[in-house]
Amino acid sequence: MISQRIDQHSVERAKTLIAGANSIAIICHTSPDGDAIGSSLAAAHVLSAIGKDVHVVIPDTFLSNLRCLPGSKEIVDAARYFDFACKLLAEADLILCLDFNEPNRTGRLAEALTASTAPKILIDHHPYPSLNADVTISHPEMAATAYLLFRFICRMGWFNFIDRNAADCLLAGMMTDTGNFSYNCTDPEIYIVVAELIGKGADKEMLYRELFNTFSADCLRLNSYALLNKMEIHKDCGCSLITLSRDELNRFHYTKGDTEGLVNRPLAIPEVKFSVFMRQESDCIRISMRSKGDFPVNTLCSEYFGGGGHINAAGGEFFGTLSEAADHLRKHFPEIKERFLTTDTK
Ligand code: MN
Repeated sequence: MISQRIDQHSVERAKTLIAGANSIAIICHTSPDGDAIGSSLAAAHVLSAIGKDVHVVIPDTFLSNLRCLPGSKEIVDAARYFDFACKLLAEADLILCLDFNEPNRTGRLAEALTASTAPKILIDHHPYPSLNADVTISHPEMAATAYLLFRFICRMGWFNFIDRNAADCLLAGMMTDTGNFSYNCTDPEIYIVVAELIGKGADKEMLYRELFNTFSADCLRLNSYALLNKMEIHKDCGCSLITLSRDELNRFHYTKGDTEGLVNRPLAIPEVKFSVFMRQESDCIRISMRSKGDFPVNTLCSEYFGGGGHINAAGGEFFGTLSEAADHLRKHFPEIKERFLTTDTK
């Protein structure tokens, strides 16, 4: 048994809305990750099992390793089928919004989402939800939307409708948002849910292989090249910086997702308190940052690179050349050291 965390009023409102809907559209955030896709597909499996007509629409393409999730072929990608995705949102009786907190997070679908008059149920774990939903189930303390969704499914009385496919999708969401249970997972009840999902037939070993340990040769070479030749360590301010230009990416036939996780690697070095990765894209330099402990990379991203995020994981952009972006960061090193490194870590 796990404790009840979703309030009863939301449960009842959601039950009524779902009972009154025949056609349900499910939507998640841009650049959908394992939690966004896993939650969306799990909800689709369960809602189909109770007899609903369900469509998953996403703003843009997901990473190819998520193709292992059952039902992924049925997803309507608005990057390719924009009009159809908008039509599904416009014609739905109910819209289930998963793993995002504000309409803008749905990118090119934001307008169609806000324009729709269908009731909306938001189930999410990002802080400060601002979507105008009829039911908002927001639990930032939960490690993954998939974990929250499992609780929601149980409260709806649909535990028996979680089949092997839905179990795979829920477990995938929980695995990806916790780095395969390496962070954000001190809640003991997560493991009760994992046990239930494995009991339902979820294939944890397949999911680990597909989601965490499947790379092309080019991808492995690109990451190795970045660590060997491009990683600067600035011991003084506990920073690691990796930059990759368009030419470098092209040399390794870069495709979306190939540098996923690269920014985390330098954090393995004890002296590194925060890690920065800058990738040259067609219109800007994409910045991502990760940190350990209380080092606030969200502050750095918002002050220096017009972005934001969480204390340990944030991102931003720079308009200019790659070397200008790197210099822009380097010139702030003394200030960063002064403001953010405590005497213990200096
Ligand atoms: Mn998530």
